[in-house]
Amino acid sequence: MADPYDVLEVPRDASDDDIKRSYRRLARQYHPDANPDDPDAEARFKELAAAYEILSDPDKRARYDRYGSAEGFDLGDPFGSGAGGLGDLFDVFFGGAGPFGGQGGGRGGPAGPRRGPDLEVTATLPFTEAVFGTQTAVTVHTALACEDCDATGAEAGTRPEPCPDCGATGEVRTVRQTVLGQIVSAAPCRGCGGTGQVIASPCPTCGGDGRVATDTTYTVDVPQGVDDGSTLRLTGRGAVGPRGGPPGDLYVRLRVQRHPTFERHGDDLVERRSISIAQAALGASLLVETLDGVETLVVPRGTQTGRVFRLKGRGVPHLQGRGRGDLHVEVVVETPSKLSAEEEDALRAYAALRGEEVAPHDEGFFSRIRSAFS
Ligand SMILES: [Zn+2]
Ligand SMILES: [Zn+2]
Repeated sequence: MADPYDVLEVPRDASDDDIKRSYRRLARQYHPDANPDDPDAEARFKELAAAYEILSDPDKRARYDRYGSAEGFDLGDPFGSGAGGLGDLFDVFFGGAGPFGGQGGGRGGPAGPRRGPDLEVTATLPFTEAVFGTQTAVTVHTALACEDCDATGAEAGTRPEPCPDCGATGEVRTVRQTVLGQIVSAAPCRGCGGTGQVIASPCPTCGGDGRVATDTTYTVDVPQGVDDGSTLRLTGRGAVGPRGGPPGDLYVRLRVQRHPTFERHGDDLVERRSISIAQAALGASLLVETLDGVETLVVPRGTQTGRVFRLKGRGVPHLQGRGRGDLHVEVVVETPSKLSAEEEDALRAYAALRGEEVAPHDEGFFSRIRSAFS
């Protein structure tokens, strides 16, 4: 089948009205009734009708523009992937690599300017700022629209022109005749890099790309309750695309510093507190640090090591919804490792009262007994 644009003698970006007008003019010219002696006129007239059927239907026209046929799809080259497929791969691999990483791809073409890549940056927060929320500044190497050319890439006073190599479609089609019929494959135009436009005098500031690389600082609102590894997305704060392409998103990955006292388990906090043997046995009242100030913890008589006391609602605020986690204080009974002579006498007296077997106060005692354990 002949190219319907050629048949109707219209450019690829012709409007619907242009197409209709051209069709009427040519149809009058080649109508069989007007050319009774021309045997080719009828064939040409049928060709016109077929071409108009495609270009007057937005769906069929779009399909033709994409695949070179209004009916089917490109069956592809059975011996390898076409250049268009390769363009897809480039987008996947280089899309997030950097502000200019997406340029290798051939996608998008004349359909519109390509979206810029997403960017990622890491922000480190002190523990309590992550718990209660904060504002933090992140600096990111990004691409912004070039102000000198208004992101067109063309020097001030000039504008991009339609690419003559591909008729501003951004694609070059190759038609092959095979036993299965005509196979059309499309590849990005080399003349314009698939954009459908060429710039005769590029903007000196951005070199025709329509954007400039720069370091930009954004203030990020960090909600309360974020944790180490949480990622925030700032929509539209990524790099802009070439020649007026919309921006990607900025992802802020959060690193949260450790706290000297609190260990975080989800939205609960765990704090370990050492108490002495006497405190565990006799009970005690302790002052305990919380995120909201100091609180009193009463350790009852006979508390075992490892016992956990819970302070409700003194943990981390929930990221989703209201309320907070709890603070768990685990008491650890610490065995004294250094005793004064007086303390030792007291302990020995205590052991004797309870009839407990203890090692004698003799430096050589352990060298005479072989322990089965190590
Ligand atoms: Zn510029
Ligand atoms: Zn081109």
